Amino acid sequence: MPGMFIDVAVDDAVAQDRELAKKLVDVCAVDIFALSDDGTLKVVEENLDECVLCDLCLQAAPEGAVRVIKLYEE
Ligand code: SF4
Repeated sequence: MPGMFIDVAVDDAVAQDRELAKKLVDVCAVDIFALSDDGTLKVVEENLDECVLCDLCLQAAPEGAVRVIKLYEE
């Protein structure tokens, strides 16, 4: 389930890549990314609406692999 205002989508290839997963956990200041027990990435749904749109996760992953989706009209 997405948040009320923000959803974050991560390509499977990135989520399964343990190095990239760690990097994403490190860059997000509001803990939207976490590691599963097996080291793959999971999105922490209850934190989604804390996203500050800093784009660090977009820069940390290959282009287009992470998408921050605004669910509201500006
Ligand atoms: S844009 Fe920033 S705050 Fe939002 S998920 Fe990415 S790293 Fe976290």
